[in-house]
Amino acid sequence: MKSFTLPIITSRGCYWKRCTFCTYREFYKGAFDQRAATLVVGDMARLHREYGCSHFRFMDDACSPAFLRSLAGQIIRSGLKVTWSCFARFEKAFSMDLLRLLAEGGCKRLMFGLESYNQRILDLMNKGFKVEEIGGIVEGCHEVGIEKRLMCMVGFPTETREEALETMRFLIDYRGKYTSFVVQPFHLEGGTEIDYHPGDSGSPGSIEGIA
Ligand code: SF4
Repeated sequence: MKSFTLPIITSRGCYWKRCTFCTYREFYKGAFDQRAATLVVGDMARLHREYGCSHFRFMDDACSPAFLRSLAGQIIRSGLKVTWSCFARFEKAFSMDLLRLLAEGGCKRLMFGLESYNQRILDLMNKGFKVEEIGGIVEGCHEVGIEKRLMCMVGFPTETREEALETMRFLIDYRGKYTSFVVQPFHLEGGTEIDYHPGDSGSPGSIEGIA
């Protein structure tokens, strides 16, 4: 079997659509459409059969836990031997039960928009999750063999040095439990929530690393 990756998109827009730094609102005007998992798995089966592709990268802004549960279930039932990766949000719904199902259904890597490990900053970003929920999901993925890329941000308006360091400490404390990370400086994008309420965003350059 040839080893290559094909991109697939299963939705338009983002099901969460609330992060204050995101251009979602400007790009999609609040719309969100999700294809049914059965159709997506049908496409994967055809691409696997016709081109020999066995790894897929979902290009969606973020795949919801509910969609991924349905997708993994369909893949398992179909007997399709493929693997895949996608962007996701930290959500309580990523239970051990779901993570095991995803691993069995071919999930190789989840790329999470962590952004910050400080609750005040997460709330300002309107990320919609609690710092206490992050560690368990990272460890759960590690346990079932799903790789993780953590995408972080520093320099969000009003973020203090100490708050930014909490994110760095998390990356250090969980070293070995995730595969790679990226820390990017905050950029103010036009048309975002924060565009209308800009703060002081003096930030350093990007840092990339392998855990
Ligand atoms: S940052 Fe990601 S999760 Fe948040 S609204 Fe944008 S696409 Fe959705």
